[in-house]
Parts: sequence; C-alpha cells; structure tokens
Amino acid sequence: SATASSRLTDGLNPEQREAVEYRGQALLIVAGAGSGKTRVLTHRIASLIESREAWPSQILAITFTNKAAAEMRERVEVLLGDSASGMWISTFHSACVRILRREAEAIGLTSTFTIYDSADQRTILKRIIKELDADTLGFTPASAQAKISKLKNELADVESYARNANTSDPQEVMFLEIFRQYTRRLREASALDFDDLIAETVYLFRAFPKVASLYQRRFRHILVDEYQDTNHAQYALIRELTQPVPADRVVEMEQHGVNVAALTDASGGIPGASLTVVGDSDQSIYAFRGADIRNIVEFERDFPGAKVVLLEQNYRSTQNILSAANAVISNNFDRKEKKLWTADGDGDQITGYTGYTAHDEAQFVADEIEVLHRAGVAYRDIAVFYRTNAQTRALEEIFVRSALPYRVVGGTKFYERAEIKDAMAYLIAVANPLDELALRRILNTPKRGIGPATETALASFAEQNALSFRQAMRSADGLGLGPKVTGAITNLATVLDEAAAMLVPSAAGIAAGTNEGASKVSDALVFLLERSGLIDALRNSRDPQDETRAENVEELVAQTRDFDRENPGASLVDFLTQVSLVAAADELDDASGTVSLMTLHTAKGLEYHAVFLTGLEEGLLPHQMSASEPGGPAEERRLFYVGITRARKRLYLSLAMSRAQFGEVAVAMPSRYLQEIPEGLIDWRQSPGMATSRGGTQPRALNARRGYGQGGGGAWGTRDRDLERFSVTKSAAPKAEWANRVTGTVRDNGDLTLAAGDRIRHVDFGEGRVTQVTGEGTKRIAHVAFDTAGQKKLLIKIAPIEKL
Ligand code: ATP
Ligand code: MG
Repeated sequence: SATASSRLTDGLNPEQREAVEYRGQALLIVAGAGSGKTRVLTHRIASLIESREAWPSQILAITFTNKAAAEMRERVEVLLGDSASGMWISTFHSACVRILRREAEAIGLTSTFTIYDSADQRTILKRIIKELDADTLGFTPASAQAKISKLKNELADVESYARNANTSDPQEVMFLEIFRQYTRRLREASALDFDDLIAETVYLFRAFPKVASLYQRRFRHILVDEYQDTNHAQYALIRELTQPVPADRVVEMEQHGVNVAALTDASGGIPGASLTVVGDSDQSIYAFRGADIRNIVEFERDFPGAKVVLLEQNYRSTQNILSAANAVISNNFDRKEKKLWTADGDGDQITGYTGYTAHDEAQFVADEIEVLHRAGVAYRDIAVFYRTNAQTRALEEIFVRSALPYRVVGGTKFYERAEIKDAMAYLIAVANPLDELALRRILNTPKRGIGPATETALASFAEQNALSFRQAMRSADGLGLGPKVTGAITNLATVLDEAAAMLVPSAAGIAAGTNEGASKVSDALVFLLERSGLIDALRNSRDPQDETRAENVEELVAQTRDFDRENPGASLVDFLTQVSLVAAADELDDASGTVSLMTLHTAKGLEYHAVFLTGLEEGLLPHQMSASEPGGPAEERRLFYVGITRARKRLYLSLAMSRAQFGEVAVAMPSRYLQEIPEGLIDWRQSPGMATSRGGTQPRALNARRGYGQGGGGAWGTRDRDLERFSVTKSAAPKAEWANRVTGTVRDNGDLTLAAGDRIRHVDFGEGRVTQVTGEGTKRIAHVAFDTAGQKKLLIKIAPIEKL
C-alpha cells in the first residue's frame, strides 16, 4: 500500500530510494562509508516482503558477521512490524553450513560433520608434516595452512593443483602430498575447515545440478553486504545461486512434487534470482584472506544490464571526520575518486595525542573516555581500535586501574582454552564418531594411563583394518595391550556410546524429523564430564590453575544451559555449529554499558559516537608484515580509512613514542598515514611529561619520517641514515615541522652517558639513582630507583631526564 511503501522509503534520499525500489535482475550499490548501504539493503528486504513480491523464505541476505545478521533481521522486523522468520540472513559460512548439513550425503559427508578451526587444522598439519619429514623442506603447519587456504579460496583442489604442479620441484611435490593427506584426513573424519564450507557448497551445486536447482528456485532475491570483501569462492557461490533453472529441470522438479507455482517464465524455466550487492572498494581489507576487489569492479561485466547506484551523502560522521577520511584514502592509486560529505556540519576538531609510552597513551584514552562519559556519552557508544591484539595489554591495564567498564571484542578466546577444547572434544566425539582428532584429544584426557605408543597402535590398527579410530577403540581388547589400558579405552568408548544414546530422539521425534525425546545438550555434557572423570580431575588437582579451569568448564555447562533454553528442540550438532561460527564481532553486546576494544578488522560496518584509533605508528599501521608487501601499504591505508569512518562525532588519533614489542622497548615512529590528514583538522596534544620538557632538542630523526621508509618500529640509526638523504630534499622541510608538532618536543639524549650510581632527574618521576644500564646503542635502558616513584626502566634515548 502507499502508506507502507512511504514508510519504507521515508527519510531516504532519492538515490537510496531508487535502490530500494529498483526491481531489475542485478543491482550494484557502490558508495563510501556511512552512506547508508546497509540501511538500503535492510529497507529493500522489507520493501520486497511488504509489497508481497517475495516471501521471507525467498530471501537470502549475506552479511559479514553473525552479529550484523542478527541486527539486520531485527531492523527488518521493526520495519515490517512482523517476524521475519523463514528468511535467511546470515554470513556466507552459516548459510553454507545450513545447506551442507542438509545435503551432506550427496558429497559423501555425514550431516554431523565437524567444523575444524584454525588450531585443529594446525594439529593435523603438524602430524602430517612430521610423518612426511616435510619440515626439512621448510614447511610449517602455519605455512601449509596458509597455502591450502589460499588454494581453497580459489576453488583449487588436490587434483587441479596436481595437474599444474611442477613435478621436478621437490617443494611442490611435497606440498602436494601434504595437501593430499590433509584432504584425505578431513574426509575420513567427516570434517570440513572454514574454507571448505564455501568451496564444498560450490562443488555440491556444480556436481549436483538437481540439488542446485532446489536452492536456485528457493532464493528469489539474494543480497550481499560488504561485497568488496568476497573472495573467488564466495563469488562463485553467488553465481551458482543466481543461475536460472532450465525448463526441462522445472518439469522434472514438478514430477518430484517440488512446488514451482508462479515462478516460471514464458520459456517454462525459472529465471535467476535477483542479485543486489553493496560495497566500497576503499574498505576492502581482507585481500590477505583472498578477498578480490575485482568482484566489485567487474560486477557490471559479470551481470550484464546491472543497474549501478552511487550514494554520496554520508549520514554518520561530521565533516571534519569525513575530510580526514577523504584526504587519507585519496593517497591510494587506482581508485575511483569519491568524496564523502555530510549536511551535518564540521563538528569538533579531531584530537591527536602523542604519549611517551603505550601506558601513557592508554592513560590518555582512559581519561578522555571519562571526560566523554561525564559529558553524557554512554560507554557503549565509545570504541577503541588497534591494529594488533597485543596492543590490548597496556589499554587493559590502565582501564582496570581506572575502573572503566570495557570488553575486548573477539579477544576472550574462551573456546580456545585447552580445558574448553577438551570438553568440546567430548561433545564432538559424540556427535561425529568419525572425528579422529577429537577422539585422540580425549583419549588420555583426563589421564588414564593411555600413552602415545597406545595411541599410535590404535591409529595404525584402524588404518590397517580400514576401521575408524572409534571402531578401533571398541576392538581394543584384540590389540594385546595391557588389561588396565584396554579397560580404560573400552570404558571411554562406552561413555561416548551412552552419551550418544541419550541424544537420540524418540521414535515419534524421528518420525516427525524433530529432536523430541532427546536429552538436552547440557545434560549430555554434564554426563560426559562426570563419567569421563574430566571435571573431578580438575577439581581434585593440586595445580592452582586447575581451579580456574574447572570454573571455565562449569561456565561451558552454563552456556549449554542457556543454549538449551533459548533454542528449544535444538540438537547437539546445532550447538556445535553455533560455537564454530561465533565470529569476533558476534560477541558485541550493545545492551551492556561497556567500552568496546577491538581490532580495526573487527570494526568494519560498525559505528560509535566516539572512536579512539590507537598505536598509529610505523610497524603497527602499516603493520611491519604488510609494509614491504605489494599492495600492503594501500590495504593498511584502507584499514585506517575504515577506522576513521566508524566515528560519528568524536575521533581521537593517538600514538606512543616508545613501545614494548616482542619483549623489547623500541622507539616508535608516527604512522606515515597521519601526515596525510590536513593539519587544521587535528588538534595535537602531548604527554604532560613532554610538554614540560620542551627544550632545544632537535627532532632529527623525525624529520626523515614523513612519507618515507618501509617497515617500522625500527632503530633510530636507520632513520638517521634516511634523514641524510632526505634532508637535502626541500620538500621535506614543512614535513619536519609537522612531525615536530605530532610528537611534541622530541628528545634525543643519544649521547647521554649514564652508569650505575648516577643521579638523574625525570620530568614526571623526580630524582632517582641509576642502578643499572642495559642494552646497546639506541636501545640503552636505564634502570632507575626513584626517590619517591619507585623502580622504572627508561629508554635513555628519549626519556625526559637530565643527569644531575
Ligand atoms: P559502512 O560502509 O561503514 O558499512 P554504510 O554505507 O553501510 O556504512 P549505514 O551503516 O547503512 O552505512 O548508515 C550509516 C548511518 O547513517 C546509520 O546510522 C544509518 O542509520 C544512517 N543513515 C543512512 N541513511 C540515512 C538517511 N537517509 N537518513 C538518516 N540517516 C541515515
Ligand atoms: Mg554497512
């Protein structure tokens, strides 16, 4: 109706409205950050349903995280005033798991297949590399994993790799063998890794056109958010899903009772689903995981007749923030020029801060958060971003000390703890009896006297007799092992069998295809923990750490209880799937009144009133690993751009002048990207220590810093050499001024000679006595016992100190 459609398009600008109302086959929405792309997708879904052009079940919307999916579902429901059940709004991975669990048998998997995480992959690769002695050729589990992942994202499998491999290169021959073994072991365990989830679904559709046509018929509208970060396999999946169903197949489907009513066109076939993708090539930050920016660039070629809508107006940020973002991203070559603008005014200046150390920087962040909070900004509307997880240390220390409520998004790693992996392995072994990895993990956990020799004996017995590891366990008494060990193995097998029996639905449940009559997941877990002795072993241990481990395992039980309550009728496999697919950003909890800490990668798509971008130093951003890679600095710049554009009203850019990394304190250089922001946009502040120590010192090394140099966090020596080359260039002069302003007064105590026993004065800590000097050259550290401030370690080169 007219009122409905106006409700769905009210408050949208003309371009957004056009994108919501367009009804052709293919639609591409390209636009910068905060221009309403995600909002348009949401309104478009609601509009398709409201106008009765689509049933909820005919919609497949792909988001980048499960959290984003839940948010989109909620917003659609608000717009419709109705439940959106039946609609698939999920990540690529979740959608594929759903499809694969249903269709597993077609491709030789059990529907209870396990999803292996990165740690599982590495455990298996470690075994393979050891067996093949592949480490002598330089293979590590991590290197093999990265290469396999890359191949799978390109949809290459063992056969296609074998066809192209150079058989005279021992390295390639060895890798092929690793890849083959790895693939075989996952198969035998009925397990898939994350990349398989996508690749196997594509394979399923290509090898079984009948299966594919069921999904092609079902999904009439496919919508993909963050399209710039899709990789080749995901692109191929979308292509498969949007294929038309030919007339003869439609006839066949009808004969099998598949409902095709009202879907066929004049040819008798079913036209391909309509496809809407939205993206921003400036926000492509997953090239390292195979994301291919070409997917967006070549959309018009791949989907002829596609409509392209450009959105320009930004509704998220102030103009100052947008101007900074525009200025930074315009340094990337090979992009379509687009400028973000807002009608909302300039807003506040960006605040810059240079700390003396990472702790000093963290203290600034904490203090500013308190200022914001007192001014009425809710903690949950504030976020702190960083490039690497290691940077949370200093932030957390200061936040705890300042009693600031915070949470590290994606940093809890609960499910990566050994004791949780152990408990989960029991559940996995019950759900998927073929999973050898899980069985071997629990074989002697808790300790039952089953040693590695027995484990190997079981594995080779299984291998030689074409049995699964679990079957070998059941036949343990024929292996000639000692009675105690044999008893332990058969006991474990029995416990697993009994737990599996608990989880079988009643006859009525099976008939109805429901889980009725099956025990709850939490009950099965408690049974396993008690009968296996795992929980008692932790509780009765003398190791004080085990007390915490027992509490963690109890927390897992609590989580299964929550799961059972929130998902009545759900199965153990449902629980395992949910755990496997928990993505970093899924742990966000807007309802909680906490400041969010997360990596820049996790921040994608989100927005906050105030954003702190920390650690803006060479070596961190750009990260030293990317700095020397082709395309690396450009991708890191996009990451910076993503970070800046998350802020609605307030943006803080901060760095530290020295930072402990890999156990060493190193002098840090301002990130090359900072200078790309026009001067007038940032109000730079300094560490109080540095401000008071302003003196005649020369910012020598920093003169060279500007827009120069690969790698980072390096020694001053390197920079000094750079400077000699650089200082003759005239254009470097204004840049030096900039650097001076960023870092305040840069001290250079390079030639200050200190020895144990010397008295010094520090700007903040007062007077003290040097107890020891360690390190060499630019990294000399003075250990100082201050008269009132306690023990400190100071980097002599830059510490605001003088010798008395
Ligand atoms: P990103 O590239 O960061 O994912 P996006 O293009 O998806 O950004 P949205 O998140 O959809 O942008 O929108 C950014 C903000 O602007 C949101 O708070 C959204 O509600 C708001 N917004 C979008 N369009 C409008 C509009 N026409 N009127 C008012 N607010 C809008
Ligand atoms: Mg978005």
